[in-house]
Amino acid sequence: MPTAKVYSPVSGLVLGEARYPNGQPHTIINDLGGGCCPIDIASAAGTPIYLIGNGRVKSIRTSRRTRCCRNAPDGWWTHGVLVRVYRDEAGTEAGYLGSVGYAHIANPLPDGHYRGNYHLLGHLPPDMCADPVGQRQCRCGTGAWCCSNGVHIHMQAKDNEVIGVTYLDRTDKHTYRGKSTLFKWHY
Ligand SMILES: [Zn+2]
Repeated sequence: MPTAKVYSPVSGLVLGEARYPNGQPHTIINDLGGGCCPIDIASAAGTPIYLIGNGRVKSIRTSRRTRCCRNAPDGWWTHGVLVRVYRDEAGTEAGYLGSVGYAHIANPLPDGHYRGNYHLLGHLPPDMCADPVGQRQCRCGTGAWCCSNGVHIHMQAKDNEVIGVTYLDRTDKHTYRGKSTLFKWHY
């Protein structure tokens, strides 16, 4: 049975999965199409975020989103990219596998259909809590009022048979860029 996979776009510490470290349930972003299996992974501002799939991912359709962080000031933190994943190069309905949402994306790529399994989606924005407006509006340091716990990528997935995060090494709670499978679909 073939399996399409989407790997971690960064190497970094996992800040939250189904729940944040404080026990609160992790937000599923409606603007990214809903779904399941949220994960936050820490990385540095400016880090390029690529869709990285295995060879079964033949094409993607992307669409930019702008409501990906409640309460945050308008800016890149509220932006994201919804990526629909296909097992055919033409990106047909029959070839649709599922979607992966990426939130907190600066300079997202134009909406479109792209062939292949490796695409630059955008970059991580500067720390929202380093900005005075963000600090005030998000009550930085007091808990998960906004979506910021430092610079990180948020991801979630939906449709067909989504299977959550696998780690190369679960004990250290790190993912590895292009190696740790975050989402996969059997077909
Ligand atoms: Zn998140």
